[in-house]
Amino acid sequence: MKNPATRPADEIEASVPTLSALFAYDSGCVEQLVMHFFSIICLPTYGIRALPEEFAAIKNAQEMHNMLWCLREFTAALSKGELEFTCRERGFTVGALKTFQSNLRHLTWQTQRIAAGEYQHRVSFLGDFSVAFNQMTEQLAGRFKTLLRETEEYKDASYKDALTGCYNRNAFSKLAKKFLSQEANTCGSGTLTICDIDHFKKFNDTYGHLCGDAALRAFADKLTSMLRPTDICFRYGGEEFVLVMPNTPLKLGLTVTERLRAAVDAMRIEFEGHELRITASFGLAETTPCETGDDVEAYLTLRLQKADESLYKAKAAGRNCIIADTE
Ligand code: GH3
Ligand code: MG
Ligand code: MG
Repeated sequence: MKNPATRPADEIEASVPTLSALFAYDSGCVEQLVMHFFSIICLPTYGIRALPEEFAAIKNAQEMHNMLWCLREFTAALSKGELEFTCRERGFTVGALKTFQSNLRHLTWQTQRIAAGEYQHRVSFLGDFSVAFNQMTEQLAGRFKTLLRETEEYKDASYKDALTGCYNRNAFSKLAKKFLSQEANTCGSGTLTICDIDHFKKFNDTYGHLCGDAALRAFADKLTSMLRPTDICFRYGGEEFVLVMPNTPLKLGLTVTERLRAAVDAMRIEFEGHELRITASFGLAETTPCETGDDVEAYLTLRLQKADESLYKAKAAGRNCIIADTE
């Protein structure tokens, strides 16, 4: 759309059917029209052609003067950005401003909703402004989506161990709690297991750290591949892993763990042409579901201590074996 302020006066006159429509234009346009009408009065030889209908009823120069004066005041009010203006002569200007006001109020509301994250809002108001505003909203929505995705990725990365892909110790306190809920334990209890690779220092010293890393990966893969989707394997320390098995009473936990132990024992790790093997020891503790208001964190720490004591006993008992806490 051409800037109305730069249009020739004739064109404006022809394109303005009513005075109230005129008020939707900007103040420069109104100013120009006022000057045009002054020129009509000052130079009667021009003759009066098609007038806006509000002007058609004007009887004399005084009425015309009042009308134009009112227009000037309105123009001044608009140029100051005022939204409340009452024409002394007639009420029509207020109607035009009211539309503008209600549009602005709606825009204010839309802006607040967009600020609250409701990016579906689009405005249809003041031509180019709407285009720019809607583009801004779309860009904001796009950036917010990217930000959310990246946050998820970073969060996931901060919860995962880079070497094995298992959840790390940081994730343990966040994720393990929900496995103590009543809903996750319809059978009544779960099993918490700590496992630790046997003589891993010697393994590293003998075959090197890279080979040790390969063994850690193979160990983690073996454990996770044999667990149910509802169980979680955490890399809790260097070569120490915690398995959380909800809905698994200790007796069943022992059976599952024995399967894991035997699978690790049978596993062969291929590294630079060698076939190597590792064993691991396991310590178990049973967990009962927590009730609302329980200190889940403290309970988890206590059960982990029990599982750790069992692991210590398994090491003392000769390694490559399982001990469960039965207290
Ligand atoms: P035990 O049977 O009593 O558990 O003996 P261990 O040698 O396994 O236990 P120790 O705690 O003495 O040694 C653990 C070793 O695990 C020492 C450390 O170098 C190794 N380790 C820990 N993290 C990593 C890792 O990310 N990569 C490799 N290659 N080794 C690791
Ligand atoms: Mg060890
Ligand atoms: Mg250890």
